[in-house]
Amino acid sequence: MILENDRYVLSGGVDPLQIVEQYGCPLYVYDSAVIERQYKRMEGAFNVKSLKINYACKALSNINILRLFKHMGSGLDTVSWQEVMLGLQAGFDPQDIIYTPNCVSLDEIAEAVKEGVKINIDNISILEQFGQAFPDTPVCIRVNPHIMAGGNVKTSVGHIDSKFGISIHQMPLVQRVVEATGLRVEGVHMHTGSDILDPEVFLSGAEILLNIAREFPDLDYIDFGSGFKVPYKPGDVETNIEELGVLISERFNDFCEEYGKDLTLMFEPGKFLVSEAGYFFAQVNVIKQTTSTVFAGVDSGLNHFIRPMFYNAYHKITNLSRTKGRSRFYTVVGYICETDTFGINRRMTELQEGDIICMHNAGAYCFSMASNYNSRFRPAEVLVHDGQSHLIRERETLEDLMRNQVEAPLFEAVKAQ
Ligand SMILES: *Cc1c(COP(=O)(O)O)cnc(C)c1O
Repeated sequence: MILENDRYVLSGGVDPLQIVEQYGCPLYVYDSAVIERQYKRMEGAFNVKSLKINYACKALSNINILRLFKHMGSGLDTVSWQEVMLGLQAGFDPQDIIYTPNCVSLDEIAEAVKEGVKINIDNISILEQFGQAFPDTPVCIRVNPHIMAGGNVKTSVGHIDSKFGISIHQMPLVQRVVEATGLRVEGVHMHTGSDILDPEVFLSGAEILLNIAREFPDLDYIDFGSGFKVPYKPGDVETNIEELGVLISERFNDFCEEYGKDLTLMFEPGKFLVSEAGYFFAQVNVIKQTTSTVFAGVDSGLNHFIRPMFYNAYHKITNLSRTKGRSRFYTVVGYICETDTFGINRRMTELQEGDIICMHNAGAYCFSMASNYNSRFRPAEVLVHDGQSHLIRERETLEDLMRNQVEAPLFEAVKAQ
């Protein structure tokens, strides 16, 4: 979204205020041109014989977004059986889906095996059971490289105390299971969840995985996970994907030569591909001035957009309705009966009740983490594509809140007359 003649416009000249008028508030809007731009950047950054980008669909799992990724040639990284099924419904070839669960039962993994998707296993116990149940199904091994860097404690998943992956120190045990069951290890994988700030640091982490890859002679691919960072505020660090691409490609090509086979280089970004494509629009219901603060209370809350409260994430907030005139500082809060602050003392053009504000970087982990807390409806979603807006999810209704609730014949229902 750019500012043009004092008003904001989305790709193709689409007016966001008109979209809000048409579909109501609160509203998630995604700009497909931004997703395409990010995907192409990533695709262009690596110079290897075979590259596969698997979009981590937990970031934003609307089926139209999944289809856009399929259309661009992307694969899918999934973390639940349900995401696998969504991916198949979106039309992905099963072999273009990798299933990377954590702490699920063998039963759920068996369902994924039945669908023919790639399986990534992250603990020895399941690996043993898997080897006995499906000795002919190749697997990928999720390695815990014991790296702790950057990011957030909740999303940092590659350190020594993390529940994710099989410790690099347990590789002899993995080899024993492989030998005993005859399993073929087709891939090795790591995803640390750490923000890639310095490509050189990432490269030294990658070396740990390459050392392990050497010990598995039947590989088809090496999956370096994600960690690609996007800017959330002005001056924020962004992963230099172009520089990273040059470094990793060179190292990977050398490795393939040494290994004696052209392996596929895999990544599974979520945030990098969709974060900046998303906008969340909410309406200001109440301006409340206290002796210390001016609150702007909006028609949304942690039920729709939890990253600021859950991760202390910073999301830029702008006044969409008014771009000219004096600016003031606002603490933007939600309507949930719990403290739900979107941003503290944010400078923006003076707000009036009824104005629409925009929260930026709302593409990744925003709608997909929304809930019905306080019995509120989850918002609608709109995709802007080729200068047109398309409704891709309806706003919920009371019927949705009652769906699956069973009115047991226990207490007399007192109906309003
Ligand atoms: C969540 C997740 C990703 C995507 O992480 P981003 O920070 O959104 O790029 C990749 N791989 C796995 C296994 C994940 O769980």
